[in-house]
Amino acid sequence: MKLLRYGPLGQERPGMIDAEGRIRDLSDHVTDFGGSTVAISALERLHRLDPANLPLVSGQQRIGACLADAPNFYAIGRNYAAHAAETGSDLPTEPLVFNKATSCIAGPFDAVPLPKGSDRIDWEIELGVVIGAPTFNVSRREALSHVAGYCIVNDVSARDWQKDRGGQWVKGKSAPGFGPIGPWLVTADEVPDPQALALNLSLNGEMRQAARTSDMVFDVAHLISYMSGFLALRPGDIIATGTPEGVGLGAKPPRFLAKGDILRLEISGLGRQEYSVK
Ligand code: ZN
Repeated sequence: MKLLRYGPLGQERPGMIDAEGRIRDLSDHVTDFGGSTVAISALERLHRLDPANLPLVSGQQRIGACLADAPNFYAIGRNYAAHAAETGSDLPTEPLVFNKATSCIAGPFDAVPLPKGSDRIDWEIELGVVIGAPTFNVSRREALSHVAGYCIVNDVSARDWQKDRGGQWVKGKSAPGFGPIGPWLVTADEVPDPQALALNLSLNGEMRQAARTSDMVFDVAHLISYMSGFLALRPGDIIATGTPEGVGLGAKPPRFLAKGDILRLEISGLGRQEYSVK
């Protein structure tokens, strides 16, 4: 299933994409998407519905973030070798885990606001994993069966706040609008191999990032199993699994976002995001 939230900001309704690519309303079957409503057990009930019997949504609709909120929004640093190299960093020997504030979650077509006080705002296309079951101390072999689905994440980053202001990366990764997710939460049954996806990001029509998830240093199963050795993941948690080469920080000279820039992000099977910077 391709699940989504549509409608004006703050008034989104849950829906799914039917075989013809149209939106079908799910309001009679689920209140919203986020947290326990995307547990695998809850999604199984939606799987049994026939999209043809759901109300067809007509007209041009804004597409919102595919999850209203998340219990936790984690991300992984330096998980593609070429990206670690372009930032002048060593490859981590273990997954580098950090947090994004959940208040950064934004829609996949909403303009990204430049926050006051930083002039080094950067882009990072990433495969987002959404957890679908309580996950603590799971093996690598069990890990993918705990995934509800996948979505595109842009791990928007303020490099000066991330690198020059001390402490954890969370400050540089969390401003409002720094976490566009969606357009869809694509359930795991439609993504048999999360390591076989193509990602690409263009800035003003120029390709900046183009890679495959097979290039990850630590694959999705490893990341989930590894994290679950330290903490309990919960349904609706998002893990952004790292960005490949081609961020603005790595360009020579560095290229950071400016008002009016247009970003377009695509991952095979997961749709696309497109927005301006304001
Ligand atoms: Zn990232």
